[in-house]
Amino acid sequence: MKPLFLYDGLKKGEELLHELQFRDRIKSAEYHYATEFEFDGFFDEALTENIFKIIKQLSKQIEFETFKLGISWPDVSDAEKSHLKFSVQTALMKRIESELKKKMTLTISDVEFLINFQQKLVCIRLRPVYVRGRYCKYSREIAQTEFFCNKCRGSGCWYCQNTGHFSTESVEQLIGKVMVPFFEGKLLIMHGAGREDMDVLMLGEGRPFIAEILLPLKRFADVKAIENEINSIYKDKISVNSLELCTLGDVSLLKDAHHHKVYSAYVTSDKPANLEMLKIGEKIDVIQKTPLRVVKRRADLDREKIVVIERVGKINENEFVLELRTSHGTYVKEFISGDDGRTKPSISSITGARCTCKLLDVVEICE
Ligand SMILES: [Zn+2]
Repeated sequence: MKPLFLYDGLKKGEELLHELQFRDRIKSAEYHYATEFEFDGFFDEALTENIFKIIKQLSKQIEFETFKLGISWPDVSDAEKSHLKFSVQTALMKRIESELKKKMTLTISDVEFLINFQQKLVCIRLRPVYVRGRYCKYSREIAQTEFFCNKCRGSGCWYCQNTGHFSTESVEQLIGKVMVPFFEGKLLIMHGAGREDMDVLMLGEGRPFIAEILLPLKRFADVKAIENEINSIYKDKISVNSLELCTLGDVSLLKDAHHHKVYSAYVTSDKPANLEMLKIGEKIDVIQKTPLRVVKRRADLDREKIVVIERVGKINENEFVLELRTSHGTYVKEFISGDDGRTKPSISSITGARCTCKLLDVVEICE
């Protein structure tokens, strides 16, 4: 059999394209791999046999349980096509089911084959594999996901000092380095249940996420081994737990889920803050306008949030620590500072001092 090659605009060596271009390309590609077959214009049993052998070979390189099989016909009459549908397409599907023990499906399948008679190619579309779990982040220099330069869209320019992106490392990238090879994939895209700012640590049980592995040649991997490898290689930077395979449907569930969160904050004030005013356990109804630092990117709305102060620890006249339980989507740094009156009330307005959140950690993401 001729070798398998990356298809749909991805020529050999083109993986050296800068990363964002590569991402866009494989996300929009209809088929990902292809291999050639011989076709002299005659539809006979030898042809069907030959194509079946190719698919049989492919099934050793590509792990799948379910499949679809389409045909891009050469120039033939409709009558001929309906005859060929039966002798080629149906015959192939039946043999893949009975001899390779794979299941044909009309819904989302692991792989889709396209027998393209014009190009004499068997084209293959690989559905992503999804792995869910939770991650912790122990560094204030690691972002959650890749943060590409918005000036050059990743190709490198003066603005990003030719790196194409702003963060040097991301949780997405570190998990990808370990996880992608396990599935013999090409790229990992991370979906998080919300995100923390780069300078915020993610502690406790971690934040739920789903890793989407694109172009996986393998669909089943020992997720415990992946977990152990990530946790031993990156132990000072990140860790993961509770990894398991999941489905595309779980991604929207993850995105729609709302979580209360517990934060730990280190706060400074411009004068002694009246910490007596902070009542432990009391629910504070907060009205929060979109923070100034993100108002360019998000709609400027009033949002109602609830914050409960769980713990206050005075360090000295101008420094203290807080533990806060907040409803979904609360901007915690702004709840502390008050964001020039855009968040009411705030730790500043309650304590009568101008307070600034210097360090913030997510301690818990509650179910
Ligand atoms: Zn740039």
